[in-house]
Amino acid sequence: MKTQSSMMRLVMTAVFLIISPMAGAQDAPRVTQLTDHVHTVFWGLYNGLVVIGHDGVLITDPANDNRAAILRDEIAKLTDLPVTHIVLTHEHFDHIGGTGAFPDAQIVAQEYIKAVLPLDPLNLAPDDIDIGFVDRHVIDMGTTRVELRFLGAGDGVATTVVLLPEERIAFTADLYEDERLTSALFLEDTNMLGIRRILGEMQRWNLAHAVTAHSAGTSPAILEANIRYFEDLYEAVYQPIAAAAQSDNPFAMYDLLDTLPATVTLDAYSGWSGYEHLPGYVRRMALAIIHGG
Ligand SMILES: [Zn+2]
Repeated sequence: MKTQSSMMRLVMTAVFLIISPMAGAQDAPRVTQLTDHVHTVFWGLYNGLVVIGHDGVLITDPANDNRAAILRDEIAKLTDLPVTHIVLTHEHFDHIGGTGAFPDAQIVAQEYIKAVLPLDPLNLAPDDIDIGFVDRHVIDMGTTRVELRFLGAGDGVATTVVLLPEERIAFTADLYEDERLTSALFLEDTNMLGIRRILGEMQRWNLAHAVTAHSAGTSPAILEANIRYFEDLYEAVYQPIAAAAQSDNPFAMYDLLDTLPATVTLDAYSGWSGYEHLPGYVRRMALAIIHGG
């Protein structure tokens, strides 16, 4: 399962390059040291944590074979220790590839990932999840305590928040970006109420760094701006739905799904990249409110 043809790798690389309007896939990897033992490596549209422990290294989503090779090279510049833990943040196939580059690593993920990974037709998924947790899992790397938290569905069903409580560093994938709205194409199984709840919980952690998978910046201000965005999105969508819920017409709420996406505006965010995808967020938030997901 871990092997795939080079043609498939080429196709997947091409797909990733085409689907994202962000530049930089071919740039040199950007390695940022956050604390003595914690780095981020941003390359190929993906950011992630590298936690150097006493006996090994913990990484998050290798993403794909190309990034895994880059990660391996960059980690070798930081330490001789092997990668011993890979945390997968959720089940989406663009995040779970590349684990074969670290054959000695345990793969850790939220248990619900197992409902989706066996469906993978491109053979990107690892053969097995070594440790599946439900609500919470702690990995003691010696230097660093790494907590994995499941706070409900967010992007996908197995949404995991990686928290380094002593360093006040958190890592999440696909819940928010730096002043950028994700293409609506990728929101089809994104639970907007779930993201709102997860980000609200993270707000209480007084983070020093909030790392997110597709942005290089780690400032908590990026998270704070997105907490406001999801609150504003919720309010703008909830109010007309709540009004429709009072209607005598039992279909009024559902009719709103046709009209709301084109009518809601959030001017405070009109300068964000990808603002044209707001209707997709409105539609998904409306569905979450009236439908649960
Ligand atoms: Zn995702």
